[in-house]
Amino acid sequence: EESPGGPSQKKVVAVVGGGLVGALNACFFAKRGFDVELFETREDIRQAKIVRGRSINLALSHRGRQALKHVGMEEKIVSQGIPMHARMIHSLNGKQSPIPYGKKGQYILSVDRANLNKELLTAAETYPNTKLNFDRKLQDWSAETGLMTFVRSDGSEEQVEADLIVGCDGAFSAIRKQFLRRSRFNYSQTYIPHGYMELTMPPINGEFAMKPNYLHIWPRNTFMMIALPNLDKTFTCTLFMPFEEFEKITTGDEVIEFFQKYFPDAIPLIGVDALKRDYFRLPAQAMVSVKCSPYHIGSKCVLMGDAAHAVVPFYGQGMNAGFEDCIVFDEIMEQFNEDFSAVLPEYTRVRVPDDHAIADLAMYNYIEMRAHVNSKWFLFRKHIDNLLHFLMPKTIIPLYTMVTFTRTRYHEAVARWHWQDRVINRGLLFSATGALLGGSFLLIKNPPDINKLLVPAEKMWSRLVALRTS
Ligand code: FAD
Repeated sequence: EESPGGPSQKKVVAVVGGGLVGALNACFFAKRGFDVELFETREDIRQAKIVRGRSINLALSHRGRQALKHVGMEEKIVSQGIPMHARMIHSLNGKQSPIPYGKKGQYILSVDRANLNKELLTAAETYPNTKLNFDRKLQDWSAETGLMTFVRSDGSEEQVEADLIVGCDGAFSAIRKQFLRRSRFNYSQTYIPHGYMELTMPPINGEFAMKPNYLHIWPRNTFMMIALPNLDKTFTCTLFMPFEEFEKITTGDEVIEFFQKYFPDAIPLIGVDALKRDYFRLPAQAMVSVKCSPYHIGSKCVLMGDAAHAVVPFYGQGMNAGFEDCIVFDEIMEQFNEDFSAVLPEYTRVRVPDDHAIADLAMYNYIEMRAHVNSKWFLFRKHIDNLLHFLMPKTIIPLYTMVTFTRTRYHEAVARWHWQDRVINRGLLFSATGALLGGSFLLIKNPPDINKLLVPAEKMWSRLVALRTS
């Protein structure tokens, strides 16, 4: 907009929350030329000694990468990540078996959360039209005026006004509180019975203690442990387990006993002393799934990232979905000429079904990761899916591939998955029935000489008897 007689005056966009999505979003708005003010409760993490976040590392995939690419950050972040080409399943007896994520050359990346957040803040700061404000905790705001009140750690208050407020303040969003007061706002939140705890697996003789280019999983049906590699050659192991199981373990010896029973191969790698100590360092953390709609209020405010859709972490898509929110919003800004009164409702219309779909998928994977990967049928189906994908790459695409390696809309990926499942299961049933009928037909047409069959059958029987009595 051209202000009379003055230089071009862009609208002020306040991004509340300088976590992963907020910091990236600041870059998106700055790139469009808005005056961006970012507000973050914490001190500047680039100066902090210890950075507390929701996890130490996390898996970055296609959607997240596309968003980073948009602001010229993809290469830098990818170069600091560790490719993981497959899941590595650890059985109880210590056997390790890989299950690839996709085709050859397809991988997800293990990235350091604190480092990614720092890089994004630095990137946002390079835009002259962006200001980062730390130690500003949003306390309250008005949907009518857009006036926000922030408190600082010394107790002082500050009021700020903006044309657009972008709520990127995470799963327990303060911005969202105003939405909850309004009529026709749908909201649900679910805590799962599991908690998570992070443990570090140090390097051995300066090298990774396990193969680094995998996401290691110890699936134990009702609970599981996973491990992602870090650049310093450590692994961060995350134990996901029902809270009541965590609480049953109260002494160091009980920790070892538990690991002895379920993750024996991990004990020497994490170390007995470290295990006994680190298990009690922090209590297990809760995991919440939040769904809501709409994502906007008028032309004033919009929610993105975990503030709009916190998902359980089992699809490795929370951040990726939040990053994709930024692209989708940007695409709609382009389409509607940055007219907030048109962009915001369209964003809700387009994005809600997709974010709700990934929330459901993450819940589904909560079971798949810890239980289904142990089932022979599941592994058989994975092979069939991969084979069909190889033969008909455009018709049959495994769900994980659509979610992780493409930007297929999440809700379309789910619909397609259900369709493919029906087709493949029917195909398998037809083939099995066909084989049975075909076999019977051949038997009837060419009945075998019963005497020829009896001789080997008798032989087999006597062998079996011998085996049982030996
Ligand atoms: P957050 O990262 O929570 O950031 C919110 C920011 O807002 C914080 O900096 C906070 O200090 C600030 N804030 C909060 N309240 C206020 C306030 N009142 N005023 C000002 N600032 C405020 N996702 C993946 O894609 N892949 C993974 O592998 C993956 N693994 C995960 C593992 C675990 C154990 C967990 C818990 C999550 C995982 N996720 C993963 C999800 C991912 O962590 C989140 O989706 C992502 O952090 C969301 O980013 P965000 O910026 O929306 O929220």
